[in-house]
Amino acid sequence: MSLGIDAARGSGMMASPSRLTNSDAFLDNQWAKVRSKLQLEVGDVEYRAWLKQVTLSGVAGDEVTLVLPTRFLRDWVSKEYGDLITALWQAENPAIRRIELRAQSNTGTAGGTAPNLGEPPHTMQTSAQAHKPEPRGEITAALDQRFTFESFVVGKPNEFAYACARRVAEAPANPGFNPLFLYGGVGLGKTHLMHAIAWELSTKSGRPHSVTYMSAEKFMYRFINALRSQSTLEFKNELRSVDVLMIDDLQFLIGKDNTQEEFFHTFNALVDAGKQIVISADKSPSDLSGLEDRLRTRLGCGMVADLHATTFELRISILEAKAARAGVEVPAKVMEFLAHKITSNVRELEGALNRLFAHANLFNRPVTLETAHEVLHDVLRAYDRRVTIQEIQKRVAEHWNIRVSEMSSARRSRNIARPRQVAMYLAKQLTSKSLPDIGRHFGDRDHTTVMHAVARVTALIAADAAFAEDVELLRRMLESGQA
Ligand code: ADP
Ligand code: MG
Repeated sequence: MSLGIDAARGSGMMASPSRLTNSDAFLDNQWAKVRSKLQLEVGDVEYRAWLKQVTLSGVAGDEVTLVLPTRFLRDWVSKEYGDLITALWQAENPAIRRIELRAQSNTGTAGGTAPNLGEPPHTMQTSAQAHKPEPRGEITAALDQRFTFESFVVGKPNEFAYACARRVAEAPANPGFNPLFLYGGVGLGKTHLMHAIAWELSTKSGRPHSVTYMSAEKFMYRFINALRSQSTLEFKNELRSVDVLMIDDLQFLIGKDNTQEEFFHTFNALVDAGKQIVISADKSPSDLSGLEDRLRTRLGCGMVADLHATTFELRISILEAKAARAGVEVPAKVMEFLAHKITSNVRELEGALNRLFAHANLFNRPVTLETAHEVLHDVLRAYDRRVTIQEIQKRVAEHWNIRVSEMSSARRSRNIARPRQVAMYLAKQLTSKSLPDIGRHFGDRDHTTVMHAVARVTALIAADAAFAEDVELLRRMLESGQA
């Protein structure tokens, strides 16, 4: 009997997704969707730094309760992401009106445990130093085994940065190269080079060095934790006892005054003691706004090296190297295709190649241009800037026989609102525009309206085959330029 009731409840939920229920699976499912959208919206780095540790506690009435391990995180997430989380929940479930964020210590019901720092603890002390009394424990983040000098492909855009990194690995703390400041856009190899220096210094060089590598966010997180637990002295001593300190993605320290101050002092203490510092950021010291002037000056007084955007030649070399390493035969045509299409950063290029490998492996088929087109369909679509929101609006309006101007009008009658929602949905799918951007093209609507439209259309596609076909047809026409 209870089975029957559960089944009935289950199907009821499917039919009206806005209904609130306390079914755990249903809630978990919603929460999973909200999380993945959150990750898409804010990007991996921010998600991992701040949002990964949020857990769902429960729902009461129209209010969802989420839990974070510490008050600091709770306040931060509430201030920075509260509105976004609320909007995303509402898009999943319009019945939700409020999101309550709690810190672990204030609630006995939360499922989470102690603060999770993300990466597993990892110490890079070598055997030569193993007899030293205090182990350095979790102060440094894990290094990626693949990020070595040998696996780094050198070309015009990165040869200077590479040479500087090599130099530091050979002769650390040389004043001309201290600090070494590496900067450049996302996915161009900054982290790779830092790890390569760390590997070299901690394992290979004649005198093994103790190296601490961490992201600026981790630095900040550790520092704030130390403040809270009144162990700043230990934290400082730990930091200042290393031979080499590396801080990745320094731009995330911007505007965090306390932490900047601490970083500045650590920085000076280390340089004065003849230790090497390596920093990475997305901009040069002079272009990093929000940085204290004295820190900016300090950062720029060693060697500043720029990783430039990749060239076609470098992308080809990287693809060749990765294919050779993986032992997979990749036709030159396929590499050219990828190097032409995926120009923004090496991480994406690598990701595309790995997907080709996985596909070839799974189906036991060689990599061909045809499979590349097929497998990378969605990746490549993101790179095709051909489809504009205007085209989408025009095509969708034609299809449902309404005026294009209705796309931006305030009218809410269903025969207008539905095509408008479809156009928003397609804009999200086919262009790289952000939600607020899309909203602006539709009569200055809010990004939550766009989010709601996307959720609504997604649900309708699942529920109504004829509607799904219409949308699919429109998508194909727009994608193939037949609009
Ligand atoms: P960043 O830190 O600048 O955002 P990463 O160092 O994380 O970028 O690089 C992104 C990915 O691209 C990594 O997997 C890295 O190994 C790879 N990569 C970047 N540049 C190169 C290169 N020149 N040769 C080989 N792999 C590279
Ligand atoms: Mg990086």
